[in-house]
Amino acid sequence: MFTHQTIRLLAVWLFVAMSTSPFQSNSGTEPVTDDDRPVVYLTFDNGPGPRTPEFLDVLDQWDAKATFFVIGGNARNSPEMLDEIVSRGHALGNHTWTHRDLTELRPLEALTELQATNVLVAETVGRTMRCWRPPFGETSDDLIEMAATIGLGNESWIPSGRWDVDTLDWKFGYEFVLSRLESIEPDDVVLMHGGMNPDPEGLAALMTWLEANGDDYRFETLPGCTPGTIASPPPDSLAAADPATRYITTNPNLWFDIQRGSAYLSAFGALR
Ligand SMILES: [Zn+2]
Repeated sequence: MFTHQTIRLLAVWLFVAMSTSPFQSNSGTEPVTDDDRPVVYLTFDNGPGPRTPEFLDVLDQWDAKATFFVIGGNARNSPEMLDEIVSRGHALGNHTWTHRDLTELRPLEALTELQATNVLVAETVGRTMRCWRPPFGETSDDLIEMAATIGLGNESWIPSGRWDVDTLDWKFGYEFVLSRLESIEPDDVVLMHGGMNPDPEGLAALMTWLEANGDDYRFETLPGCTPGTIASPPPDSLAAADPATRYITTNPNLWFDIQRGSAYLSAFGALR
């Protein structure tokens, strides 16, 4: 009926959902700094991929922290890259499992796209993600509300979870990307891609821009993307209950969705 892998993933899924329940205290606090340079938020979508380490190396040269919105299906192929991103001080965000337009999916499919990616990341790096970005920037009030039920927000930095500067690094050449980077203003959220696409020009443009501007800004992870922890203690009144009981008690509807979501995952073969 259930494979061992399915059961294991379901167990992790439970812990992820529990750790993002309304009872979880907000473990994320922004770093205190006396650095008064303006902040810019570099973000990289669609990875991880073969070129992700090159982006990490460039960021390290400028002591820059960034946020990587990862695709679960890609992360599954190189899970060690998730650890690499986190261990070097960057944040992870959820960019769904297969990068489909969530507004065209049924709610359960959309939930599964997000939750499957949550599970993989939590299982791999031991921390939960707390933010997401919709593929193509396409979202709705219903999707935002649903994502919030599994601990994912995106409204703390910009309404609708989009971006201020889209470099279109996946589409146009070096000069175009550089012109977009030159238009950056303080507090901007900059959209790039993290090494999954054939984007050497994007990386080259980033390096050139940092050479000229890297000392002028602080590069921080997005507010709201500070990772949570799996091992958050439950409230005292529920501490005695086993995890499944606690979860069902607090989230009966989600428990039902998770059961159906697991069946859906098996059906479309995203996880085996
Ligand atoms: Zn994307």
